[in-house]
Amino acid sequence: MKTYFVAAAATVALVFVAAIGQRPATAQAPPASGGRVDPALIEDLVAGYRILADQGVLDAYGHVSVRHPGNPNRYLMSRSLAPEDVTANDIMEYDIDSNPVDPRGRLSVQERFIHGEIYRAHPAVKAVVHSHSPAVVPFSITKVPLRPVYHMASFLWVGVPVWDIRSVKDPTAASLLVRNIPVGKSLAAALGDKPVALLRGHGNVVVGPDILTAVRYAIWTEKNAQMQTAAMQLGGPITYITPEEGDARDKNPGDPNRGWEAWKKHAMGK
Ligand SMILES: [Zn+2]
Repeated sequence: MKTYFVAAAATVALVFVAAIGQRPATAQAPPASGGRVDPALIEDLVAGYRILADQGVLDAYGHVSVRHPGNPNRYLMSRSLAPEDVTANDIMEYDIDSNPVDPRGRLSVQERFIHGEIYRAHPAVKAVVHSHSPAVVPFSITKVPLRPVYHMASFLWVGVPVWDIRSVKDPTAASLLVRNIPVGKSLAAALGDKPVALLRGHGNVVVGPDILTAVRYAIWTEKNAQMQTAAMQLGGPITYITPEEGDARDKNPGDPNRGWEAWKKHAMGK
């Protein structure tokens, strides 16, 4: 009896080993990490979440991400969490298909495909903000284009596309959320080479060559939308920032990151 048991156990073990050895190559193994990231970059990413929450751009939802500096097909963003609560421990890594590298039971943001597909389509983009920036939403549901009305938002001179999720023939589109790769691809195509695109009845995406740029663009886009709406309520023709002015400021932006430390102190000191 004892001999039989040992033999049976050995058989089970052999079958188990054989099964592992025969695992098909297509099985879902977690994607490899892009490698260690400088803690200073993670700190900037966390600060980005906290600043945008503090500035009223991010509500309890919305997210900020950064492309992995060691592998362009990886990106970093927070697990599903209110932005004002994000810490370095909440930052997760994703592959370009938006699969988590090391989930450890942490819940991913449903709309992470916004980030993955923008990084895939636009190699120069290194940081992405998705928010429900409240003052921009009216410009996503009317025929009034969002245009730069003050110098800090002069980068909007190139135009602000409005993307309507109904343009994607996808069964998930009625949810209004970017829940998969095809919907994310459509949004990334609509953004093109612009820094900002609006999502109809939802919010916006703001991109940049680094976290600091994307964050300040997101803040100034929100403020510009507030000012443009105020100007329209005053009535009469509006004198917008001209393309010549926008182009000149793009080429010589001065010291655009001067506000970062002050914003960070205000946001993190709470
Ligand atoms: Zn959203």
